Amino acid sequence: MKHITLAHGAGGAVMQGLIKDKMLKYLDHRSDIQIPLSALDDSAVIDDIAFTIDSHTIKPLFFPGGDIGSLSVSGTINDISVMGARPIALSSAFVIEEGFLLKDLEKILGSMQKTSVQADVPIITGDTKVVEHGAIDKMVITTSAIGKRTELLEENIREVKKYRELNERWIRDSNLKEGDKIIVSGTIGDHGISLLSFRGGYGFESEVKSDVAPLNRMIGEAMKVGGIVSMKDPTRGGLSNTLNELSEKSDVGILIKEEKIKVKEAVRSACEMLGMDALEIGNEGKAVIGVVFEKAEEVLDALRKTKEGKDAEIIGVATNKIKGVAMETIVGGKRIVEAPMGDPVPRIC
Ligand code: MG
Repeated sequence: MKHITLAHGAGGAVMQGLIKDKMLKYLDHRSDIQIPLSALDDSAVIDDIAFTIDSHTIKPLFFPGGDIGSLSVSGTINDISVMGARPIALSSAFVIEEGFLLKDLEKILGSMQKTSVQADVPIITGDTKVVEHGAIDKMVITTSAIGKRTELLEENIREVKKYRELNERWIRDSNLKEGDKIIVSGTIGDHGISLLSFRGGYGFESEVKSDVAPLNRMIGEAMKVGGIVSMKDPTRGGLSNTLNELSEKSDVGILIKEEKIKVKEAVRSACEMLGMDALEIGNEGKAVIGVVFEKAEEVLDALRKTKEGKDAEIIGVATNKIKGVAMETIVGGKRIVEAPMGDPVPRIC
């Protein structure tokens, strides 16, 4: 393949290939980084500081439940939070197409401010560039964040070690072990379906709102209970992609139960009509959490007491009895859950 295709940015197997074969080849050349680029975790860690960045090139800019502003702040906060770090500051860089409406820019900035206040993470540095009409599609916002180690993370790790071994100081994709329970913090597929329905042309009107939200407070409540080993936000490629990444990096199978995975009725029917799998659709306000067996129910209760985690559920378990990810279906069968080639809905984040 000579050219970049949309699949190279869609969060699935094709994008993983590009990152591993090209990006890491040139950019990952130091061996002294605590959690390096090659870990392909939600954030890197250097000198005990979590660090992450995200570009947002969403279509449309405004959608039910949010806009590119709330998305760019939430997504970056979430990538820091799932490492067990406390996000302390954000940066934001704007590339804006000539002709962009000032009132739309103000609306987006208002959303960024609101989300930043809600999450209590300030935006403290940034950059603004304008390009000729046609050079980009309206706007790209890039946000970066840093996060600190806290006593909460230390306490969470100590709690894990009461029950099993853990040779790691951070919450990482590679920490899962046989017996750990897998929690999803709520319904899946809301973000991707909300965008798709709003773009129109699909012949259905959906009332689904995006789940976009900063999750640092919810995750903080879960970490107060402790016992969390792995966490990821199931964005591009959805739950399928996230579970496959956890399984591969931790070298353990994951068995989930279809009946435990919550999908809103409107999302379910949209997926049926479009021939899509809700498990592969991106989310922007959910976390997948691996917890030691003994603490899973307690973490679940703590999540359910939060606004973002009220529909949390234990959906499965890490097990050495299988390789990869498999799902017990409602009708009693078992099927393999593969990592999708890419998110079926392009440009969702
Ligand atoms: Mg992430």
